[in-house]
Amino acid sequence: MPDRIYNFAAGPCTLPLPALEEAQANFVNYKNTGMSLFETSHRSTTYDDIHMGAIQLLRDVYHIPETHKIIMLGGGATLQFTMIPMNFLGEGKFAEYVNTGTWGTKALKDAQIIGDAREIATGKDSNFMNIPKDYTVNQDAAYLHITTNNTIKGTQLHEMPDAGNVPIIADMSSDFLSRPVDWSKIGMAYGGAQKNLGPAGMAVVIIRDDMMEKANKNLTAYMRYDIHASKYSMYNTPPMFPIYMMNLVLEWVRDNGGLEQMDKNADERCGILYDIIDEYGDYYSCPVAKEDRSRMNVAFRLPTEELEKKFVAEALERGMSSLKGHRSVGGCRASLYNAMPIEGAEKLGRFMLKFMAANPK
Ligand code: PMP
Repeated sequence: MPDRIYNFAAGPCTLPLPALEEAQANFVNYKNTGMSLFETSHRSTTYDDIHMGAIQLLRDVYHIPETHKIIMLGGGATLQFTMIPMNFLGEGKFAEYVNTGTWGTKALKDAQIIGDAREIATGKDSNFMNIPKDYTVNQDAAYLHITTNNTIKGTQLHEMPDAGNVPIIADMSSDFLSRPVDWSKIGMAYGGAQKNLGPAGMAVVIIRDDMMEKANKNLTAYMRYDIHASKYSMYNTPPMFPIYMMNLVLEWVRDNGGLEQMDKNADERCGILYDIIDEYGDYYSCPVAKEDRSRMNVAFRLPTEELEKKFVAEALERGMSSLKGHRSVGGCRASLYNAMPIEGAEKLGRFMLKFMAANPK
């Protein structure tokens, strides 16, 4: 097995090599302090520089305006499924959810335990292979919840829905920092870190100030977004390692063309694979509606399940891992996050052609 392979996992996933190497070089003795950063108090100036630096760098790289606060919170995206309704779905209020897959379903179910969360559209009839767009948002709703990229199904929202005056709350876990966002349309965005930001262990939450003001104050402290924001995500001991790694990943994004380059790379990477799928449609097929295809997670099928198994196994032998699709979709899935080099997609594309020639149906 070569030193480093192309890892197409859906998250946790491939991270930029320079970020991993810098962490390794500094892990035991952080910049000559005589101890690891992770043996240092989270209140130390050494850590504070990293913590505040990460918040500022995310703001700069992702062009997040001062109208929105950035919070880094242990607990992942799933905790937000609960915190969102706790904060924004008080007595007499209701929220609307567009259900576009496994994660949208989970967000909806959790919200329904807390308050009046209504599913206004679902892609269930097509096994979530397309994204419903034909719905109207009730202007009295407290928020509209959407999932911008459906990691498991391989679909993605290419345009923000028109929610009128209703704030949009977007789970952006799997397309975070991969394309420009019109922040004026976003009341809150959130995502687990373990795709485009770093290792697992936290979520990043971005909340517009007017939403923050409306948030429920009658909650236990950890559940309150406004407390985390006012303490710069230091109300309690923050997830120091994911934050440290996120800072390194953000530096890598900044030094490699920023968000705009990440956006271009995403098009190029997925284009390589979708072009092959479209050209050789009688061998490779994409189960997802064409207009809803994800740039981050490319789902595809081969003529038989046996061939799919062989494909995944042979790809691994050639240094391309984690190409098995999620069990709810089957087939194969190539996740192509920011840190996946273009060469990784090119290598996979070449392998797809060779495999097809060597294994006619
Ligand atoms: N939403 C989406 C779109 C996801 O892909 C995931 C995890 N893969 C989650 C939510 C849940 O994230 P976490 O595991 O960080 O709770």
